[in-house]
Amino acid sequence: MAFEGLSERLQKAFSGLRRKGKVSESDIRDAMREIRLALLEADVNFDVVKTFIKNVRTKALGAEVLESLTPSQQIIKIVNDELVKTMGEAAVPLNKAPHIPTVIMMAGLQGAGKTTTVGKLSKYLMDNDSARPLLIAADVYRPAAIDQLQTIGKQLNVPVFEMGTDVDPVEIVRQGLATAKENKNDYVLIDTAGRLQIDEKLMNELKNIKELAHPNDILLVDDAMTGQAAVDVAKGFNEQLDITGVVLTKLDGDTRGGAALSIRAVTGKPIKFIGQGEKMDALDVFYPDRMANRILG
Ligand code: GDP
Repeated sequence: MAFEGLSERLQKAFSGLRRKGKVSESDIRDAMREIRLALLEADVNFDVVKTFIKNVRTKALGAEVLESLTPSQQIIKIVNDELVKTMGEAAVPLNKAPHIPTVIMMAGLQGAGKTTTVGKLSKYLMDNDSARPLLIAADVYRPAAIDQLQTIGKQLNVPVFEMGTDVDPVEIVRQGLATAKENKNDYVLIDTAGRLQIDEKLMNELKNIKELAHPNDILLVDDAMTGQAAVDVAKGFNEQLDITGVVLTKLDGDTRGGAALSIRAVTGKPIKFIGQGEKMDALDVFYPDRMANRILG
């Protein structure tokens, strides 16, 4: 289960305080040390942990907590609030174009779940915004990617625009957008190529697609299971592409939590959705407060 280790470690830190009626400064320092270790073990970015602990410590050492009759509850609340703050406070919705179509460009490394997420997001938009999306298959390097998108399109009854694998992806996107305008699709989701790692060729291609398509959202699909690496990927894509948000996938796995807790603080960009399974309905809006509840168990 996701965050299991982190939840357990945090509970342990709190239970040390719960056993006491009144707490001393040194009790709080002990608890802070445990919380710090819990976060580091969960693969939370080092700088994020530093800021987190500093903020919680300042509040926890305040007179309100030290003189309180329920110090552990107060500290749990302080930690909860800081978790929510670290993850960005409120859910951030998708951007919508003033005139159709709204264009959403999906990017990410191979295997992160990009093609699957294109399907999931189109279903989400149909269910929640009565959308009539068009999917553009611009991943011309991974041989099975176009077939995979076609299969998803058939399953969801969503049209897929493709030109095979021998055409420049920028040209595919150009013609795909023209088709969407003709057919009055209100959303266009572009499935772009992924690679095993960030490289210049990939980024140049994505920049060219961005320049042509003027996407309303550029969503990085990022694999939560990869922990710190997911944070580095988000940083890299953001620096190159100025993404508008992240879809954090595979939160149904036993991810430790580092990516969920670090991405917003490190990149300044919100996690907009989370993927929680392989099925088309396994996509949820990311709510920092619900995630904090999940982490605190
Ligand atoms: P792409 O290379 O980024 O396009 O990745 P795919 O969409 O092909 O996904 C790679 C694998 O991850 C597939 O087996 C997906 O079913 C799986 N996957 C995608 N999202 C999730 C998720 O949220 N949870 C789980 N458990 N698997 C996922």
